[in-house]
Amino acid sequence: MAKFHGRLTLQFLSDGPLKLISVRCTHDLKMRGLIDWQGEFTTAEQVAEALRQGMLSLTYEPELAGERYQSIVPVESDSIAAAIEHYFIQSEQFPTKLRIASDDNAVVGLLLQLMPDESDRKAMSWEHVTTLADTLENDEMLSHDNETLLHRLYHQDTVRVFERQSVAFGCNFSPEKMENAILSLGKEQAMQIVKEKGRIDIRCEFCGRNSQYDAVDVENLFKTGKHKPRENLNVKH
Ligand SMILES: [Zn+2]
Repeated sequence: MAKFHGRLTLQFLSDGPLKLISVRCTHDLKMRGLIDWQGEFTTAEQVAEALRQGMLSLTYEPELAGERYQSIVPVESDSIAAAIEHYFIQSEQFPTKLRIASDDNAVVGLLLQLMPDESDRKAMSWEHVTTLADTLENDEMLSHDNETLLHRLYHQDTVRVFERQSVAFGCNFSPEKMENAILSLGKEQAMQIVKEKGRIDIRCEFCGRNSQYDAVDVENLFKTGKHKPRENLNVKH
């Protein structure tokens, strides 16, 4: 709903076994995500326990003008969906209902929000709308399209369906960025790494692409500042 040009990052951070979950989305719906954990999670209770050890943050970064904005709330919930609901209630003061269903192939979500309005009638219908959303079964969410689900839940109300928008993976990997990272080390430190490890490996954690720089590459990079590396395009997404 927000008129926004830039990127939005939702991030979970903790010192526990679930170290990081990070998802970034731009205004044109390019998304990338990353998860970092230790050990194995086999039960929902383990996930809940790990979630309760962390913080959830939402960061808006406008591309052109405007302030970067970040808010952080502790996760006092057993699921990501409940944590996001809690975030909206505490930080944005929007009553929010979020249902997420997933299997090995897909993730489906239903987000309901009460737009700011003082009327009692709206508060009453909010009860009604969220109670109905709670009746959805996970496999129902995964096996039906939006129109069918909305019709099943809210056929007594007027529902307007907006045009579909597609979401795509986008990590803005670029050799220039990798090179800038090496240049920012300084030549001495960069050559030290090459000496110790034979080369510098830089990997994009989002798409799995690698850039490798040996002694000659690093030498050239510092000479020209814009050397084109040999890329290892072992792409995993
Ligand atoms: Zn990448």
